[in-house]
Amino acid sequence: MALRSEWTGQACPIARSLDVLGDPWVVLILREVFTGNRRFDTLKAALEIADTVLSRRLSVLVEQGLLSKEPYAGTTRKRMEYVMTDKGADTLPVLHALGLWGRRHTTPPVAGQALRIYCMRCGEEAEHADWCVGCAKPLTVDTTGWRRARSPEILLELGSVGRR
Ligand SMILES: [Zn+2]
Repeated sequence: MALRSEWTGQACPIARSLDVLGDPWVVLILREVFTGNRRFDTLKAALEIADTVLSRRLSVLVEQGLLSKEPYAGTTRKRMEYVMTDKGADTLPVLHALGLWGRRHTTPPVAGQALRIYCMRCGEEAEHADWCVGCAKPLTVDTTGWRRARSPEILLELGSVGRR
C-alpha cells in the first residue's frame, strides 16, 4: 500500500528510499519508536495524529519490514506494540541528517531548542549523522543517545529504550 506515486522501480536509490520514507508521518513514527514509544495509543498521543492516518502508516512500516508488530509483554490484555527491525534501525542516520539539517537551516519556536545527538561510547555530541567525531566510530542505535528538544534534561539511550 503505497502512500503516493510508486517509485520502487526508479534507478536512483534516493527515489526508491522516498517511496518508503517520503512521508512526514512515517519519519516521525520512526523517531518515536527509536525513543521507546511503541504502542498505538501512546504514538497517537505523542504525534496528535488521526487514528486512520496512524494506522495506515504503521501498516506500511510493517509491510515494508521497518517495524514488526508483536504482543506487548506485561499486561493481561492482548495488546500489540511496534518493534524496530534492523531495516528500521538503519534509518537512524537519515533521522539524524534531518535533525542536523533542521538545526542549521530552520528556526525553532524557542531559541536554543534542538535535538542533540550523543555518542554513548565517548560522550561527544555528534556533528555528523552517522559517525562520531570524538571516537571516529559509527553511530548506531546501540551507541547513540538523544536529548530531545522538548525534554533536554533527559538523555535517552536509544539502545535501551528503542529496542526490546
Ligand atoms: Zn564517540
